[in-house]
Amino acid sequence: MDTRQVVILGSGPAGLTAAIYAARANLAPLVLEGEPSSTSDQPGGQLMLTTEVENFPGFPDGVLGPDLMSALRSQAARFGAEFLTTKATRVDLSSRPFGVWWDHPGDVEPSVKGNALIIATGARSLMLGLPNEARLLGHGVSTCATCDGFFFRGQDIAVVGGGDSALEEAIFLTHFARSVTIIHRRDALRASHIMQDRARANEKIRFEWNAQVIDIYGETSVSGVRLKDSKSGEERDLAVSGLFIAIGHEPNTALFAGQLELQDNSYIRTFGGSHTNVEGVFACGDVQDHIYRQAVTAAGSGCMAAIDAERWLEATSAHH
Ligand code: NAP
Repeated sequence: MDTRQVVILGSGPAGLTAAIYAARANLAPLVLEGEPSSTSDQPGGQLMLTTEVENFPGFPDGVLGPDLMSALRSQAARFGAEFLTTKATRVDLSSRPFGVWWDHPGDVEPSVKGNALIIATGARSLMLGLPNEARLLGHGVSTCATCDGFFFRGQDIAVVGGGDSALEEAIFLTHFARSVTIIHRRDALRASHIMQDRARANEKIRFEWNAQVIDIYGETSVSGVRLKDSKSGEERDLAVSGLFIAIGHEPNTALFAGQLELQDNSYIRTFGGSHTNVEGVFACGDVQDHIYRQAVTAAGSGCMAAIDAERWLEATSAHH
């Protein structure tokens, strides 16, 4: 069994940028890139589910999310990063080198060991779970207003959710859209009062109360949604060309529970850059960031994690 200098978990912008930097520092990182799936929890991460990305610096004409991820992956591979298309199923952070398992989590011996571990497993947007939602993701269905709001100039669109995220996204989207309908499953918002006041005062925002989205219409892009009244059970249609899902996010941290200090919302707590509470374990990207959640901030924090890991490895090996 191999002991690597650096093992990286995750292959979104954070993991791949960490891989580029670690590879160029001659650390020959092993990247567990995940497995194909229909959620954001897959090789390449959430950008694999988007179409046009217009806010990643350096691409004046925009770039497709999957193309950006494949370019980052090639860049890391060019400098010697090695990829495995698998997911970690267990980690042991109690002693160094750290153990990482994939196929057989019950085995005594881990699949690989790493002197340093960089966690970049990301977060997933909670989804409604409708078949047409998955089909139209990136084609009118979006989980990121900051990323996609610009594409809906002058249009009538909707946001699902009643928390701060939904209201924040709705308010942001009024800068572009003609109207924004907030679809909430109850008749009372969960969001903070200040956000509620702002949303209610916004002339472009209207509300659909007690409304559950039960289907999304559209062949190649969204044309409307079917709503079901949570109280009366009545169904009605709403014509919109965009649907933003803002019902919360969940960091992919189940693997580390009990071994690593997490914040109250389950995101990994980092200290001074990318350090976690376990020496030699670093975290970057959305798995430790519930605030910015951008490809460029994830990439930036991946760079920080690789540099932190490199310095830490150098300092610890100097002691021996
Ligand atoms: P959240 O507070 O958990 O709200 C999720 C919303 O989505 C709730 O209104 C919930 O409805 C609804 N929802 C959940 N599952 C649903 C489903 N399957 N179908 C339909 N609706 C569903 O999540 P969040 O808004 O992302 O916020 C997360 C945390 O970040 C919160 O603590 C929030 O305060 C904070 N935050 C703060 C700001 C800010 O201060 N500017 C901005 C964003 C987020 P119910 O209400 O019926 O449960």
